[in-house]
Amino acid sequence: MTVTETANPLSQFGRFLARKGRPTWNLTVAEKSLVTPRMMRVVFACDTLDRLEWKPGQDLVLELPVQGGIARRHYTIRRHDRTILTVDFVLHPGASAAGDWLRAAGTGDTIVAAGPRGHTYLREADWHLFVGDETCIPGIAAMLEALPRGDKAFAFLEIADDAERQPIASDAPVVWLPRNGAAPGPSRVLYDAVEAFAFPPGFGHAYVIGETSNVRAIRQRLIARGLGKEQTCAEGYWRPGRIGGHDHA
Ligand SMILES: Cc1cc2nc3c(=O)[nH]c(=O)nc-3n(C[C@H](O)[C@H](O)[C@H](O)COP(=O)(O)OP(=O)(O)OC[C@H]3O[C@@H](n4cnc5c(N)ncnc54)[C@H](O)[C@@H]3O)c2cc1C
Repeated sequence: MTVTETANPLSQFGRFLARKGRPTWNLTVAEKSLVTPRMMRVVFACDTLDRLEWKPGQDLVLELPVQGGIARRHYTIRRHDRTILTVDFVLHPGASAAGDWLRAAGTGDTIVAAGPRGHTYLREADWHLFVGDETCIPGIAAMLEALPRGDKAFAFLEIADDAERQPIASDAPVVWLPRNGAAPGPSRVLYDAVEAFAFPPGFGHAYVIGETSNVRAIRQRLIARGLGKEQTCAEGYWRPGRIGGHDHA
């Protein structure tokens, strides 16, 4: 594929990414539905998507139309099947580019997406530890579902409340950690749960994603407990007050 085949001619960013060799895709909304009360699923169609090569856990940068321009936001690939792509959006409180787009989006609407990108994807290991809040459920579910059956894996997922639990096609134990009324953001919910997790024998790999300060604290603690730096993937997906983007952890 030549990248320019799918680049949106109106998007400067699309041209910039094309120069960097990152493909862009013209996505059309095919379906919109609720997975849970606070998670909206959008199924996109795109004729050229059968050329998309990605690793479970990776994301796309979506170009979302906003008044006066375009807002760019990272969203993980939940599923991909030939010319169909599924993305799950958390409906967080307050007005925002992604939230406003999502509420208004209807079948036939189009956006541009660039990628895939990101270093959060499955590594060779005897056991895998997945840690994240609701923004990470799409990525962690995609990785859990891609693990070979029999691989040892453990997942800790922070959610708003029990209504946010969702089915994941994996035998791995998932510990759902409801905040039950507390606001999302910096907290000890995931930290304390991971602190009580005893490392199984063998070579482990941890995937720690979500709110940036939580990710940094958990990663540092896992390293202090003996996990090598190369045995962790970590990325800040959001943080209070930050608009779009991502944080290195
Ligand atoms: C690699 C990567 C993959 C990601 N994958 C997903 C995904 O699959 N699904 C998903 O839902 N999100 C995902 N995110 C997180 C998402 O990109 C951010 O939450 C993003 O800020 C949402 O954009 P927005 O326009 O709604 O809000 P913004 O305009 O970016 O922010 C507006 C305000 O909302 C706050 N805010 C942003 N996100 C949240 C939140 N989750 N909870 C509470 N307040 C928030 C901000 O701090 C800011 O104050 C991912 C992020 C990264 C870096």
